[in-house]
Amino acid sequence: MKRLVVLGGGESGVGTAILGKKKGYEVFVSDKGKIKDKYKKVLEHFEIDWEDETHTEDKILNADLVMKSPGIPDTVPLVVQLTNKGISVISEIEFASRYTDATIIGITGSNGKTTTTMLTNHIFKQGGLNVGMAGNIGDSYAKMVAENDFDSYVLEISSFQLDGIKDFRPHIAILTNITPDHLDRYEYQFENYIASKFRIAENQKSEDYLIYDADDEVIVNWLKHHPVQSKLMPFSIQREVEEGAYLENNDIIITTNNDSIQMTTDHLALEGKHNLKNTMAASMAAKLVSIRKETIRESIMNFQGAPHRLEKVLKIGHVQYINDSKATNVNATFYALDSMSAPTVWIVGGVDKGNDYKELMPLVREKVKAIICLGMDNSKIKDAFGNVVDLMVETFAMEEAIKVAYKIAERGDTVLLSPACASFDLFDNYEDRGNQFKEAIKNL
Ligand code: ADP
Repeated sequence: MKRLVVLGGGESGVGTAILGKKKGYEVFVSDKGKIKDKYKKVLEHFEIDWEDETHTEDKILNADLVMKSPGIPDTVPLVVQLTNKGISVISEIEFASRYTDATIIGITGSNGKTTTTMLTNHIFKQGGLNVGMAGNIGDSYAKMVAENDFDSYVLEISSFQLDGIKDFRPHIAILTNITPDHLDRYEYQFENYIASKFRIAENQKSEDYLIYDADDEVIVNWLKHHPVQSKLMPFSIQREVEEGAYLENNDIIITTNNDSIQMTTDHLALEGKHNLKNTMAASMAAKLVSIRKETIRESIMNFQGAPHRLEKVLKIGHVQYINDSKATNVNATFYALDSMSAPTVWIVGGVDKGNDYKELMPLVREKVKAIICLGMDNSKIKDAFGNVVDLMVETFAMEEAIKVAYKIAERGDTVLLSPACASFDLFDNYEDRGNQFKEAIKNL
């Protein structure tokens, strides 16, 4: 019996363990931290051997194959030891994809992964496909492969998952955009991070597709110097493309395999330029798997957006409150501000990730009437925008921030939570931050 060691007992680790067990491996799960009770129960149910709060080297270094969870860097000594011993260390998507023949749609990028994944899944479902959605969303891909028999999978894939692939090959890859993120895991070299994202296409063949943002200079430049096998399917909101998707007046035009579809952008479910791009990417994937044009048109209008991403919460006294808590970097906030049409009271701040606020300056000048800082340390935001807006208030709790926003906002304004920062100073995570935002508004 081959021995599969799973490092990390979270969603992807436990999913891998279940699939490994089913496929006849002797499985051992080891987590340096604490494994959540709900996962312990699952492991026990499947009679899978596990340990937590330690790594017992004797039980790990004898593995035939190791699955490393995405949160564990390649540089930890144990992983280095395994690699030096010549033991294969792979990621969950690599492992799971070995056990399915389904059509794979792999979605990666710095921003827009979840939105594009959910929208693609929605269109596929409306089109009657037997589709599973997994990856960084909900259930792990490995668990789904173990327990279901889907014809296609729409997968949200992080760069950390891509770092551990060998043969993983999506039939359709979507690369939403690339901006600097997670550089601490890439030796602070942007090139390394770009290369990691592009691994989504490294095993693709000439019959596979790579859908990508042709307005993204990082992507376009990289492709010039690192050609891929896949058929290129660009989308652009700036220029016409022959094959791919672009904007003509108010319409999206998508051409694949010499066949075009035209769709109005009126009544799109997702607002904002960035979402126009996400909509193009998802629709193009749907067209490539031959979903009916009418179904695609309808689906991009009746989609219910993902929470915490430009989520409209409530209108109170003609003031719209919008929750964009998932905007944990400057680029995401750029698109949020860009899509604001009304004067905006902007709630921003949290854990700074080396942010450069320069690119937001024109938008802030144009659209923001007041800034409410919401973080333990707001100094960078104060330095950047202190002289740009008429009113800046510092707060240290969501309730207080909302009370202040309520006082400042006038009829027709928008109150936007789009922090451009991580949430860990005042909140458990971005969901907690977004939920507290919504709670506080409901309590007004
Ligand atoms: P991810 O899963 O890649 O983190 P999400 O879909 O969760 O992406 O969106 C994260 C944040 O980025 C949200 O604030 C959202 O409004 C913004 N966003 C979504 N799509 C894009 C895009 N194509 N370009 C830039 N920002 C985007």
